[in-house]
Amino acid sequence: MLLLALESSCDETAAAVVRDGRTVLSSVVASQIAVHAEYGGVVPEIASRRHLEAVVPVVEQALRQAGVWFPDLQGVAATQGPGLAGALLVGLSTAKALAFANRLPLVGVNHIEGHLFASFLERPVEFPFLALVVSGGHSHLYRVDGFGRYLTLGQTIDDAAGEAFDKVAKLLGFPYPGGALIDRLAVDGNPAAVRFPRPLLHDGSCNFSFSGLKTAVLTHLQKYPLSGPEDQRLPDICASFQAAVCDVLVAKTSAALTDSGCSRLVVAGGVACNSALRREMARLADARGIELHIPSPPLCADNAAMLAVPADYYLEQGMESELGLDALAVWPLDSITARRTAE
Ligand code: ATP
Ligand code: MG
Ligand code: FE
Repeated sequence: MLLLALESSCDETAAAVVRDGRTVLSSVVASQIAVHAEYGGVVPEIASRRHLEAVVPVVEQALRQAGVWFPDLQGVAATQGPGLAGALLVGLSTAKALAFANRLPLVGVNHIEGHLFASFLERPVEFPFLALVVSGGHSHLYRVDGFGRYLTLGQTIDDAAGEAFDKVAKLLGFPYPGGALIDRLAVDGNPAAVRFPRPLLHDGSCNFSFSGLKTAVLTHLQKYPLSGPEDQRLPDICASFQAAVCDVLVAKTSAALTDSGCSRLVVAGGVACNSALRREMARLADARGIELHIPSPPLCADNAAMLAVPADYYLEQGMESELGLDALAVWPLDSITARRTAE
């Protein structure tokens, strides 16, 4: 099945053409990062406007790069949620219009469901598996028993991992979103230089908390102010903060592997680009003798190709969406399980 997928949940307008939920013929991502950097974060109204400007050219580019046109397609997929309501509406409305005009089935996909299955575009994973999704809005552990069958084992009780990276980056004077820059500077830093807290490490749950860690970095900086962007301690702080995040993510993932009995692990979402996290997860997988899947960085970050994996499955099963479907700003994965179980 040849699908066109559209993503517009936050600050990336993306379109992709994917065959059989497996082969990516094109994946175009137009990022708005530069526009929002000026404001230190994503401005929802600006995001919607930019999506409107970008969506048609991005779709055209994806089709052209794939060497296909509308009559070749068998379906259209779009992110239905979660995300910024106005931003979601642009991609979803475009997908509805394209599906209606070309008499194609439409399927609304959960953005996190897309992240979960991004690695399938490189190497399929057998069910069940444990998935750690670490992104701008999520730090969640799921047991995945199949498409549409998700059980939340743990989640952040405050900030998401990516949010923590971006907030700490802001404290360090980096432009938004600074997660990747922390990663780059940490390469030259000593992860043991500052002993930042490891929140909830021993609470026995699979939950995360990152807001206290961010405050610990703030307190440290107030006590020992940086002299400027060339301060020698900057890489040490980056490496020490990153080590604290990784320690917690690895420990909780390890606990969830035990609880769930899974022998396969998927790590996904923008923070899965982090080099230290990739290294530590590889170490964990080695130590436990389990199979590890982390998509290559472009597939960890937001893209539309990842949506085509679950979309292809749902359309093959005849589970298309109504053209009247609504964007869902909040849409926990567990509620998908409830819906699919009811069907
Ligand atoms: P969600 O997927 O929860 O809706 P989102 O789509 O905004 O949120 P993603 O695009 O998946 O999030 O991920 C973006 C996040 O990943 C940002 O917080 C960014 O700083 C972080 N990130 C990207 N690269 C790295 C890196 N190398 N190290 C740490 N964080 C990173
Ligand atoms: Mg983004
Ligand atoms: Fe995302």
